[in-house]
Amino acid sequence: MSSAHYRRILLKVSGEMLAGEQGYGVQPSILEGLAEEIADVVAMDVEVAVVIGGGNIFRGLAASARGMERASADYMGMLATVLNALALQNALEGKGVSTRVQSAIEMRQLAEGYIRRRAIRHLEKKRVVIFAGGTGNPYFSTDTAASLRAMEIGAQVIMKGTKVDGIYDSDPVKNPQAKKYAEIPFLSILTQNLKVMDSTAISLCMDNRLPLIVFNLKEKGNFKRVVQGEPIGTLVTVESR
Ligand code: UDP
Repeated sequence: MSSAHYRRILLKVSGEMLAGEQGYGVQPSILEGLAEEIADVVAMDVEVAVVIGGGNIFRGLAASARGMERASADYMGMLATVLNALALQNALEGKGVSTRVQSAIEMRQLAEGYIRRRAIRHLEKKRVVIFAGGTGNPYFSTDTAASLRAMEIGAQVIMKGTKVDGIYDSDPVKNPQAKKYAEIPFLSILTQNLKVMDSTAISLCMDNRLPLIVFNLKEKGNFKRVVQGEPIGTLVTVESR
């Protein structure tokens, strides 16, 4: 039985999400909650791929600002995403969801290497594929990895789960008058310099006409609602209707 609006999706989860209140590392209750949300969507017969960030453990840019060489720092950041991927894999398997971790950086004892056709095969078999290691290249982000992998696997949409309920014209935490967009074109995100994903990730989606939905993943049941096509969060499209 499926009331899903989508057949194959890519969920982007930032490392920060996993940190929860503690602000660092992985908070077990958040991880459990996330695994439950994903399991509910898998049960709807939807193919789910996940790109996971690493910002809860290590960010290359921040370390390079403190004097570390950027490329080395970025490799550390990519390793951080592998830790998170293994944590999510463990939580999902604990809920009976079958999974595979594919890493952009070879580490055979821990994860499969990234092979596009194999990833697609796993999805067809209803395994959740967790992409670790970002793009495998320094100077990129896991948002860009999400855009790239979504296109490679033929996902219909990227769903970016965040701590806020969509895209605003200014920071809703600092500005109570901030206005939320129900829909916004990619180009406006670039021209208004809105902090949604970095410009490489946004451009990649825009150029390849891949829609993006930004929504609050902290709210229970929201992931399922988005997958069912409920208009929550903000839909980012190539052109505004
Ligand atoms: N990173 C990288 N190349 C990639 C993806 C990630 O070098 O393709 C590094 C980068 O240093 C980044 C860190 O990994 O700061 C963690 O990823 P990100 O900041 O995107 O995680 P998120 O903000 O989603 O938690």
